Amino acid sequence: MENVFQSALATLKKAGEIAQIDERVMELLSRPKRITDFSIPLKMDNGNFKLFTAYRVHYSDAIGPTRDGTRYVPDLSLDEVKALALFMTIKHAVSGVPAGGGKGGIKVDPSKLSEWELERLTRAFIRNLIPKGPNVDIPGADIGTNYKTQSWMLDEYEQITGEHAPTAINDKPYSMGGTVGSAEATGLGIFYVAMEAFRDYEIDIEGTEVVVQGFGQVGATIARYLYDQGLRIIAVSDITGGIYSDEGIDIPALKKHVEENGNIEGFTGTTKIGNDELLELECDVLIPAAVQNVINKNNVDNIKAKFIIEAANGPITTEAEKVLNSRNIPIVPDVVANAGGAIVCHYERIQGITNDYWDLDQVNSRLKKQIVTAYNKSKEAADEYDTSLRIGAWITALKRISQSVKMRGWV
Ligand code: NAD
Repeated sequence: MENVFQSALATLKKAGEIAQIDERVMELLSRPKRITDFSIPLKMDNGNFKLFTAYRVHYSDAIGPTRDGTRYVPDLSLDEVKALALFMTIKHAVSGVPAGGGKGGIKVDPSKLSEWELERLTRAFIRNLIPKGPNVDIPGADIGTNYKTQSWMLDEYEQITGEHAPTAINDKPYSMGGTVGSAEATGLGIFYVAMEAFRDYEIDIEGTEVVVQGFGQVGATIARYLYDQGLRIIAVSDITGGIYSDEGIDIPALKKHVEENGNIEGFTGTTKIGNDELLELECDVLIPAAVQNVINKNNVDNIKAKFIIEAANGPITTEAEKVLNSRNIPIVPDVVANAGGAIVCHYERIQGITNDYWDLDQVNSRLKKQIVTAYNKSKEAADEYDTSLRIGAWITALKRISQSVKMRGWV
């Protein structure tokens, strides 16, 4: 499988070459500013000792403090964290969020730890981050982390500094100084971008057939918004497999089924299909909303969708993208499509700084304006340089970062 960091660098290089970004800026962005690679010793509940590997990557802080998620997965690699930190650098810059890109994580399967072990590990993670703080680096949540871990992180930071500092940690619950609207922000942002892109690429709403891979926080939200808009969701999947109905799936009823049964399996009026088969279905719009690299050299020739929206991070490999580009299948790239979560994290920070908390309408209307602007700027750049939307998005971001790097006198 492709090395995800090398693929991210290849996209960076291509965008830089097309827009003739200063070579010194490109060299600066070819590696992270700082990598913290450390071990966390943990005394387990049964008295045994275990050593965990952890990382935090500050990719670039040219336009603001580094910011974003913390991933707890058993197969975490440093390259994965570097790639995600670079994606966040681009995502913030293209969306007009004054933040740099950061990412971190621990090589751990959180389901194998007791709650008390998880809390001690999380607190130790925060103690080991150097430097840290609301004006330096702000960890958020990602796979394996949630309101609970973010609350422990914030409490640990505040215990260390002796002051309340809600802006030191993102993705915390409302009761700890978080924001309303964060749970749906990514899915709703994808919906706003999708509506804009459908207009640009002349995709009718009525009767449009959509396939969604992944029915978690993001996939279920985007599926419901599109369903409410009148699009026909003909197939969805989760890790257990997929379900199909050519008449369209009742998404609110499916959500209820998942709440009651834990997964989508056996939903009435649908046929069971595999996750691979699902990606290859005849449809108008395909939305991969699960994991990376699902569209790759092995299946790209069988992809029949006319339009793809990347809800997951990096679901299409570079090799596969070349094939899709040659077949003129437009792709709305991850760095724009799923930026809603990062944008609303910025609103979380603004509310923490001002101590003035917004209502849901305020959050969602600002999100719509900001993410649609990011999409439109990417589209304008793609048209100007006669390139893909992905490269258009990266060019938009690189121009912004480059200006800041030069004004700072770094190159
Ligand atoms: P989630 O854990 O809530 O849901 C993931 C879904 O994908 C689940 O339905 C799971 O069963 C399914 N899945 C997992 N592995 C699969 C596989 N191999 N094949 C098919 N389905 C599989 O996660 P989420 O928060 O919805 O995130 C989904 C994607 O969106 C991830 O790539 C994530 O990095 C990206 N993303 C999420 C956010 C956010 O705010 N949650 C923001 C930006 C990007």
